[in-house]
Amino acid sequence: MSRTALILLGPPGAGKGTQGRRLSAEFSVPSISTGDILREAVRNGTELGRQAKQHMDSGGLVPDALVDAIVRERLAREDCRTGFILDGYPRTVSQAEFLQREYAGEGMKFLAVGVQVKDGALVRRLTGRRSCPGCGKIYHIDASPSRNGDRCDECGTALVQRRDDTVAVVQERLQVYHQSTRPLIEYYQSRGAYAEVSGEGAVEDIYAALRSIVEPHLPERRPRA
Ligand code: AMP
Repeated sequence: MSRTALILLGPPGAGKGTQGRRLSAEFSVPSISTGDILREAVRNGTELGRQAKQHMDSGGLVPDALVDAIVRERLAREDCRTGFILDGYPRTVSQAEFLQREYAGEGMKFLAVGVQVKDGALVRRLTGRRSCPGCGKIYHIDASPSRNGDRCDECGTALVQRRDDTVAVVQERLQVYHQSTRPLIEYYQSRGAYAEVSGEGAVEDIYAALRSIVEPHLPERRPRA
């Protein structure tokens, strides 16, 4: 059976996490965020977390070798058998080449979808973002606040602001995106494996656009209840 890797490409704050979670809930594939895995490692004080923390706090990238190893371990799990969504990986051409080298020979198909949002809007989105460390749900203090004040309206956990969602670190992350990650658009375009949606507007509309692109590629649907 062929295996589809859906890659959500786009700047920080484009909504990749929110849309990846929705796609994952509708289609029977996991949404894998290297950022989430790294943040958990930092929280748990593991060796990986120790090595990643300084890069994350400054808005830079964690070295390719560390992130590639995380992805290799995660993709080996049973739930990735028919396909998966990658949110925040690859972020460099070297990481994209790692994926290609390791998995293309196994019949894995890649589809990168760019979620595009202008930089000005991203700063506002990121600095107002709050997330739930319990279930991962993402909020915005103005655009999509929790009905429960500073607690998650799904699981009741206290919401947090990411350490790297401050103005100074956000500027650095956007610069890193333009320098290191944006070139991946051309990388996948040149392989005929790139599509794009606008990440501006209502979450529902963005999801509908994304869904129509990915539906033919993520074949197994969770049966409706
Ligand atoms: P994210 O949650 O995707 O915005 O990632 C948060 C931070 O984790 C980034 O700013 C990087 O420091 C690190 N990170 C996440 N994914 C990667 C990756 N694929 N390569 C390098 N660093 C990453």
